Amino acid sequence: MNMEEIKIQQTDIRKAKPDQSNLPFGHYFTDHMFLLDYNLEQGWHEPRIVPYAPLVLDPAAMVFHYGQAVFEGMKAFIAKDEQILLFRPNKNMERFNQSNRRLEIPEIDGDFIIHAIQKLVNVDKEWIPSGKGTSLYIRPFIIATEACLGVRASHTYQLLVILSPVGAYYSEGLEPVKINVESSYTRAVRGGLGTAKAAGNYAASIKAQTEAKDAGYSQVLWLDAIEKKYIEEVGSMNIFFKINGKVITPELNGSILAGVTRDSIMELLNNWGVPVEERQISIEEVYEASLNGTLEEVFGTGTAAVISPVGELFWNNHQMIVNQGHIGQLSQKLYDTITGIQTGLIPDTLHWTVQV
Ligand SMILES: *Cc1c(COP(=O)(O)O)cnc(C)c1O
Repeated sequence: MNMEEIKIQQTDIRKAKPDQSNLPFGHYFTDHMFLLDYNLEQGWHEPRIVPYAPLVLDPAAMVFHYGQAVFEGMKAFIAKDEQILLFRPNKNMERFNQSNRRLEIPEIDGDFIIHAIQKLVNVDKEWIPSGKGTSLYIRPFIIATEACLGVRASHTYQLLVILSPVGAYYSEGLEPVKINVESSYTRAVRGGLGTAKAAGNYAASIKAQTEAKDAGYSQVLWLDAIEKKYIEEVGSMNIFFKINGKVITPELNGSILAGVTRDSIMELLNNWGVPVEERQISIEEVYEASLNGTLEEVFGTGTAAVISPVGELFWNNHQMIVNQGHIGQLSQKLYDTITGIQTGLIPDTLHWTVQV
């Protein structure tokens, strides 16, 4: 497929743009979306940009019944001279196909989808907010569309890309969040869907998330499914601990999602000469560190929030306060560096950004 094949149908009706100073995450959508279809005869075909609109799907579409759905999350930023930048989009496309393989969804041509995203972002570029901490969130996703109640891989799919202007992910902004360590529910288990960005992982997490919210916590920290002992990740973020000068993050063990932000943080820290250990880390180890005063910083990492400092962890009736509830120096430096590179304020020596 090549770029020229993408048909563009512009909308006649432009929606009102939201107030940039108060953008909730994922509530507003732009004027257009990208669509691509798959069937067995033609493979992926008919790439097109059309007015943003509801979908018409058969009620028997397999995605509704068996959850064959994967997604990605990335961002476009306004940099200086009105340049528009994407951050490591090739990483998202690699992971998109990793998710596709796990769910028996046909793989996509990552370079082509990046081109499509560039075209779509260009069509809706007036929607990219320019305030500090804001960006245009890009949500590519694939759903199984065949009308059939048999349990097997669908024979037809649709890939869509929608865009949403966003502010900071957490309403508290860069203020440290309180996190509940979940000891009863399980999000993912080795061999399951945890390594895929699959809609079903979130379905599995919502009840624990609701209970944590009701108890005053903004997120859930998941432990391993079997022993409820080793730390996995937060709802939509990977997690890092700074203990006694060392940075530790759980290794990719087969049930954790390989975050693009996680990867970027590790590369930055390595470049800065800060040792990063990718290994099993138990919640007891973190608790011990909090008791003996060596738990220096805890932060979540993900595209939506970039860095989310953790001010409190609640586990098994133990309250662990991190850095007196303040953001740590390293967390702040990582946040400033990544957002600086994303918005062109810091030279992109690692060649992470791609111009739209
Ligand atoms: C998307 C996601 C992350 C973060 O990945 P990024 O590529 O850094 O945005 C972490 N964990 C889960 C479960 C996710 O879905």
